[in-house]
Amino acid sequence: MIKAFENYEIWFVTGAQLLYGGDAVVAVDGHSSEMVAGMNASGILPVKVVYKGTANSSQEVADVMSAAEADGKCIGVITWMHTFSPAKMWIHGMQKLRKPLLHFHTQYNEEIPWDTMDMDFMNLNQSAHGDREFGHILARMRKNHKTVVGYWKDPKVLAHIAVWQRVAAAWADAQDMRILRFGDQMNNVAVTDGDKVEAEIRFGYHVDYMPFSEVMTYFDKVEDKDVDELVRVYFNEYDHAPELEDKTTEAYRKVWNSAKAELTLRAVLTDKGAKAFTTNFDDLGDVNVNETGRGFDQIPGLASQRLMAEGYGFGAEGDWKSAALCRTVWFMGQGLPKGCSFLEDYTLHFNGEQSAILQAHMLEICPLIADAKPKLEVHHLGIGVRKEQTARLVFTSKTGDGVAATVVDMGGRFRLIVNEVKCIQSKPLPKLPVASALWIPKPNFEVGAGAWIMAGGTHHSCFSYDLTPEYWEDYAEIADIEMLLINDETTIPNFKRDLRINEIYYMLNKALK
Ligand code: MN
Repeated sequence: MIKAFENYEIWFVTGAQLLYGGDAVVAVDGHSSEMVAGMNASGILPVKVVYKGTANSSQEVADVMSAAEADGKCIGVITWMHTFSPAKMWIHGMQKLRKPLLHFHTQYNEEIPWDTMDMDFMNLNQSAHGDREFGHILARMRKNHKTVVGYWKDPKVLAHIAVWQRVAAAWADAQDMRILRFGDQMNNVAVTDGDKVEAEIRFGYHVDYMPFSEVMTYFDKVEDKDVDELVRVYFNEYDHAPELEDKTTEAYRKVWNSAKAELTLRAVLTDKGAKAFTTNFDDLGDVNVNETGRGFDQIPGLASQRLMAEGYGFGAEGDWKSAALCRTVWFMGQGLPKGCSFLEDYTLHFNGEQSAILQAHMLEICPLIADAKPKLEVHHLGIGVRKEQTARLVFTSKTGDGVAATVVDMGGRFRLIVNEVKCIQSKPLPKLPVASALWIPKPNFEVGAGAWIMAGGTHHSCFSYDLTPEYWEDYAEIADIEMLLINDETTIPNFKRDLRINEIYYMLNKALK
């Protein structure tokens, strides 16, 4: 768990002032070091916390925040006021800090020492009002942040910090994220489109386009022996019918061509430093590929599945917002047990209280969510520019709770929609052999699907078993975007009211900032 985030640091800055004398500041410093060491030793925090000392003046605060901004390893700052720290001295520093901020309302001392407490003790253990003074300036400045409240040794409290650390790490990861679109947006589709310039301003990631003619320059360089080797990896890694290994068959050729497509995409993504990509099943290079041998003779579904499992964000049909979000979901969830995937609402299953939505895509579901070893199969695929026999990994997904999320462009702002869902057992589809999940949106199918649709949510989503709405709360706070949560508390009248109130809120919010 630690390894995935080992190149990152969270800085811990303690507020104090010199009013109580140098001895008090020395004590504050010692306590802070002890607390940070304890937090790191807890085993709960995935990102190392680095204590950066006390800040005792406006200049000291500004200096440490400037340093945090400039430091490549620092992905966020935790602040805590051990004593009283007059908050005007935090104004300039808070103006400089653009990285994620967490205000930790805790106290060095656990229980009140009723019999021995004196004024010195009180002057030192002053978080009760010091953190309120600091909280005021954050509220006054409309400074986005997370507030975590509780004793610093409490695992439940540290778990909230751990969530925020993972989100901060994924945020840092997105700031130099490049997304390659192989082929453009699918024609005429509204929900997957959006403002790429605004996306870069808001989320940090950059969306590029790569024409298939350029992809082919990588395709031409792939060596047959490397393809042979990758095919062997497939056969080792996945269940498959023995006939599939018969090199004289079309099925084998399709698997081989899939492996070549994977090596092509892998080479492009590596060379361009891209962390996410989109495909478009109507744009796969030369339409005469079966004669020329140059191009993808089938949609690169198997490649997309395998690349997703390694952490490449993926969006189908040119859906770059989902590609970016899938990368972010994977990044946040590293080391967590159950996995994540790009998914699409496929078809509805009406069954009273158990009414559910089948989640799949043509082929591109991430094997991280599989409930058993995936099966490598080759079947005809009757959609897109290549109606061909196509290799894919087939599986059903794990059961249990998870969250689905999507970002849509509302024109003028981005909206994050999050739905808690319950995955129930999906079934094999002999006549449509694709990977799938089956879920009941919370609070139930009627309200969950209804609210998502009213909010303008896409038919694509980024799903994770491991994340909770708290991750998305933190993400929306850092990105400073609207978030709508659909869960057991949701009712349609309240949700409609929220949609209307948010229209006004975001209009005013822009004016205030
Ligand atoms: Mn789709």
